[in-house]
Amino acid sequence: MPTYVRTEKCDGCKGQDKTACMYICPHDLMKLDKDGSETGHAMKAFNQEPEQCWECYSCVKICPQSAIEVRAYADIVPLGASVQPMRGTDSIVWTIKFRNGNMKRFKFPIRTTPEGSIEPYTGKPKADMSKLDGPGLFTMGPNLKGDRSQLIRLGK
Ligand code: SF4
Ligand code: SF4
Repeated sequence: MPTYVRTEKCDGCKGQDKTACMYICPHDLMKLDKDGSETGHAMKAFNQEPEQCWECYSCVKICPQSAIEVRAYADIVPLGASVQPMRGTDSIVWTIKFRNGNMKRFKFPIRTTPEGSIEPYTGKPKADMSKLDGPGLFTMGPNLKGDRSQLIRLGK
């Protein structure tokens, strides 16, 4: 089940070209409706292809206005209940609302380094593109030794 945007909370990331939710979505689903022509809500973001949403919660966590929520599957979050994260700079709080009105909050630390300080490729060798066809990167099983014709055949 996909995300949806609470338009009364979304501020369009103050008109930036790429909003936080657009930046973070791994599936490129979030879109800012600048003039309101697509949704009737100008300067509000929306999930442009809900059926493709992975429910990864990345956009929910990054939205500075807490404007994005997820319609979770009923077997996980039944109607009337909700699961909503609130991310801080060093921790995340998950608020679980039950259908009977009970509420629980869980707080977890999320990082040990300052935000934005991670250099993921530090100390790693530069990519060697000549190894792309090698068996180490050919992920079709241990018995297939990087035969590119097999990859093309299966991809048809
Ligand atoms: S990140 Fe939040 S506030 Fe910014 S455009 Fe997306 S939904 Fe709106
Ligand atoms: S939950 Fe994940 S896949 Fe779905 S719109 Fe948000 S960032 Fe994209």
